[in-house]
Amino acid sequence: MSDTPATVLVTGGSGYIAGYVIAALNARGFVVRATLRNLAREAETRAALAKITNPAAIEFVAADLNGDAGWSEAVAGCTYVQHVASPLATTDPKDDDELVRPARDGALRVMRASRDAGVRRVVMTASVASIAYGRDHRTTPYTETDWTDETNRADTSAYVRSKTIAERAVRDWLAHEGGALELVTIHPGLVLGPVLGRDFSTSIEAIKKLLEGSVPGLPKFGWPVVDVRDVADMHVSAMLAPGVAGERFIAAADFWWMKDMAAALKRRLGARAGKVPTLQLPNFAVRLAALFDPLVRGQLFELGREHRVSHEKATRLLAWHPRPTEDSIIETAESLIAEGLV
Ligand code: NAP
Repeated sequence: MSDTPATVLVTGGSGYIAGYVIAALNARGFVVRATLRNLAREAETRAALAKITNPAAIEFVAADLNGDAGWSEAVAGCTYVQHVASPLATTDPKDDDELVRPARDGALRVMRASRDAGVRRVVMTASVASIAYGRDHRTTPYTETDWTDETNRADTSAYVRSKTIAERAVRDWLAHEGGALELVTIHPGLVLGPVLGRDFSTSIEAIKKLLEGSVPGLPKFGWPVVDVRDVADMHVSAMLAPGVAGERFIAAADFWWMKDMAAALKRRLGARAGKVPTLQLPNFAVRLAALFDPLVRGQLFELGREHRVSHEKATRLLAWHPRPTEDSIIETAESLIAEGLV
């Protein structure tokens, strides 16, 4: 066995989760290379990463999920790939393809390049979006054996459909053309935790809106929540664990309604949570608001829905133990305040 540390490619190095994955890999001594779709963002990305890791040794290369250029150079010499990049959206685009194309075709580009370069394992950031939607309401938690039915447009968004279509395409491709390449998919819930700057993920919007008081009351929205640092740790564990090739792992701690998030913010942040609303909005009022607000409209399919998921498998096979969600909620808020973003 060589003592040279393995090289790991992280796609979408400018992203929120990718930043923490890079930090977790750096902490474990891996050589990290990261893609950006535009190298003009390298300095900004390094500055954000410097808040949680030493970015000096990280190499940045250019590659866009929508094009072939750069991917074979990006994976050259890598033992592992962390495919984290994929577009997020809070509102549905006119055409699903705006999200599906980069999510699915981009993932296939990463997979093909990885196979051709002899990469051992790709860890792909999937989502509970490809597990828990488009099905009849149920009270038992969803598990890794469940798949979203993306043909049910009433219980899916374009983003949910893009994540489901991308994961299925990648798994189909792997079965027929993957050769010795291994794949593990990670399925986070709503990812919270300290932001690294202005370019935070859309998952942070819920906490930002509460703190700003920019929502008049509390819509009955809720999500399985997870801390970004726990998501990153799972990406590294899934990359290294023997015997888990092909597996899916849910990364979510527990389910939180917005009203419980608001209550935690009030309780723990005192005056700093002065604008956080307390009134629960009736569903009809949210539906009415959706007529005028595309952001609310884009989330309407989630209204009143309790998509509970289980992380039992990750605990059993990856020894994954998420931190308390309330602490993540508070640290998200504190970071937004510290960065001057609310
Ligand atoms: P993020 O901060 O918005 O990161 C998304 C990343 O994808 C960015 O680096 C972005 O690059 C990149 N990207 C988007 N379109 C691209 C394209 N055409 N070519 C190359 N790169 C592209 O969001 P995140 O929360 O870290 O999300 C990362 C992954 O986690 C995604 O796969 C997402 O679906 C998944 N996920 C997120 C959550 C959550 O709650 N945040 C939950 C479940 C799963 P730019 O910076 O250039 O835009």
